[in-house]
Amino acid sequence: MALKTILTAPDPRLKKKSKPVASVDAEVRQLMDDMLETMYAAPGIGLAAPQVGELQRVIVLDIDREDVKTGPLFMANPEVIEASDEDATYEEGCLSLPEHYADVVRPAKVTVRYLDRDGKKQEMACEGLLATCIQHEIDHLDGILFVDHISSLKRNMILRKLLKARKEKERDEAEGKPAAPKKDKETAPAI
Ligand SMILES: [Zn+2]
Repeated sequence: MALKTILTAPDPRLKKKSKPVASVDAEVRQLMDDMLETMYAAPGIGLAAPQVGELQRVIVLDIDREDVKTGPLFMANPEVIEASDEDATYEEGCLSLPEHYADVVRPAKVTVRYLDRDGKKQEMACEGLLATCIQHEIDHLDGILFVDHISSLKRNMILRKLLKARKEKERDEAEGKPAAPKKDKETAPAI
C-alpha cells in the first residue's frame, strides 16, 4: 500500500467528472487500498479517487462514531438509486478544503448501488452521517465540492482563503520555515 497526495481546492482535477471502472480488477483494488490508507492517515472518514488525482468512480469510507460504525467500505461506480424527500443538514468538512466547514442540506436517506471490493453488485440503505458522507463522495466523482451547495459568497470566501493559505505555505517552504503545526480543535469530520 502507498500513501497518495490529497489534492486541495482550487485544483482543476477536483472539478472533473470521473469515469466508471470497467470492472474491479487488481489495479482498482490497489487504488482502493491506497485510498483507504491515505484516508486514515489524513485523517478522514471518506475519500473519493479524484481527490488523489485518479478520475475513476471509486470511493472509500470508514465511519467510526458512537452511533455509526461501518468498518472500511469500498465502492466502485456508486450511484444513488433512491433518495428520501426528507432532508437533513450536516456541518461538512472535506480533505480537499482543509479547515473549512459549512452546513449542507441533502436528502436524509439514500439507497446506493455499487460494486464492492470483490466486484460484486451491492445495494445499501443509508441514513444519518453515512448517507451524507456517501452523497458527498459521489459528488466528488461528478466534480462537485460541498462548497458548490452553499452560497457563492461563502464559497468564494473559502476558496480565497485556501488560495491564500497555499501561497503562504509555498512561501514559507521556499524560505525554509518549518510548517505551522496542525490545529487540533474539535471539528466536523473531513470527507
Ligand atoms: Zn470531500
